Amino acid sequence: MTMNKRWVAMALFVSVLLAGCGGAASNQTPPGSTPPASTDPADDPQPDPGSGAEEPGGEADPADPEDPADPADPAAWPDPADPTDAEPGGAAGDHPTDPGLPAVTWKPSGIGYPLVPSDPSVQQKVAMLTFDDGPSNYTPEVLDRLKEAGVKAVFFITGYGAAEHPELLKRIHEEGHLLGIHTMTHPNMTELSREEQIEEIQPLIDLITEVTGERPRYFRPPFGAYNGTLLATLDELGLELINWSNGSLDWEGVVDGYKDPNQVVADVLDQLHPGSVILAHDTMKHTAEAVPLIIEALRAEGYEFVVLP
Ligand SMILES: [Zn+2]
Repeated sequence: MTMNKRWVAMALFVSVLLAGCGGAASNQTPPGSTPPASTDPADDPQPDPGSGAEEPGGEADPADPEDPADPADPAAWPDPADPTDAEPGGAAGDHPTDPGLPAVTWKPSGIGYPLVPSDPSVQQKVAMLTFDDGPSNYTPEVLDRLKEAGVKAVFFITGYGAAEHPELLKRIHEEGHLLGIHTMTHPNMTELSREEQIEEIQPLIDLITEVTGERPRYFRPPFGAYNGTLLATLDELGLELINWSNGSLDWEGVVDGYKDPNQVVADVLDQLHPGSVILAHDTMKHTAEAVPLIIEALRAEGYEFVVLP
């Protein structure tokens, strides 16, 4: 099952990171910390050459975060091997045995059910929509569709997006969505020192606090990449790392900035599991168009949408 493969792949990816991290305070970049440059070939025949440039293993260029072709997060799919023979339960069970395991899963309090990324034991049919890299020109359409559907989501914003669309931060907040942090310039955080990591995060803590009156609590790392240094930095800043368990693949197979939104829906459904944390980007037209379709499709499967507390 593709779904299971994703879980296992995520679990293995985390294990690789942990194995490479060692001490949480280490500033070394573990060899396994750079996400693989391609998605699972079994699922994703041909990575789009256009999106390949953003892959951290390739040419991710923090100096050029505003490249409109930057779908970001494309390479975060863990794909150590292709562990089709592993069981998701076993993979999840591997986590606790790893000494020094950082807390990268989460359980929102106050909404009545556990929601843990990559944990196949979660049975409730709930899902969470998360949007990275914005705000952008497409964020208003995403917000319109969410409002029509009565769904709340999380927006992990960038510094460059916020600089271009400051008014949208207010709108996101006022419409009941959550603002999280996705860094100022979208670097691979595992390549940065603690001080550099703070420079990528602190201005957005200040900005979101100013807009919402509350300090933000959640951080989504670019490319899904993290190491012990980042986890320590986040702990220091009072932020929690939130990765995803269901990539919409809205960044893959994009031609001239567009792909069939129905394919995005199909990819979300293909990876759907109870507790899905869905990664999408409010920086792409097809994603904005896919939002109502995703909501409709998941509701048809009996899912309801939740958001972090
Ligand atoms: Zn991103």
